[in-house]
Amino acid sequence: MKHYRKELWFEIPTRRAFINITPDVDICLKESGIKNGLLLCNAMHITASVFINDDESGLHRDYETWLERLAPHEPVSQYHHNTYEDNADAHMKRQIMGREVVVAVTDGKLDFGTWERIFYGEFDGRRKKRVLVKIIGE
Ligand code: ZN
Repeated sequence: MKHYRKELWFEIPTRRAFINITPDVDICLKESGIKNGLLLCNAMHITASVFINDDESGLHRDYETWLERLAPHEPVSQYHHNTYEDNADAHMKRQIMGREVVVAVTDGKLDFGTWERIFYGEFDGRRKKRVLVKIIGE
């Protein structure tokens, strides 16, 4: 069995953003040479997510509104976590949007449904963060 590991680095200039990382993950898959197996992709930070959904800007604005309703950033004093930090909302947003995705690899391709794409969700940006890509298979 072959195995492959790579860290993708991001430094998002805003506090929050959704980035389509499917092209980066595709490059990893090509580099790995693996044709059939499983691909794991996870955020290595507890205030960022990796998830699969539609690459549609209206949906991403809807996510932003929905997440702000569930876990508003302000007032930061409403959270016990915010003693020396102000990112309690980012931890909660990450929890809802998830840590990782697993994608089947079939015939050298990400075995997606029609509209599935992989996103990096940043909830406390403006610093360097990592995403892990691990691929195992033949
Ligand atoms: Zn924190």
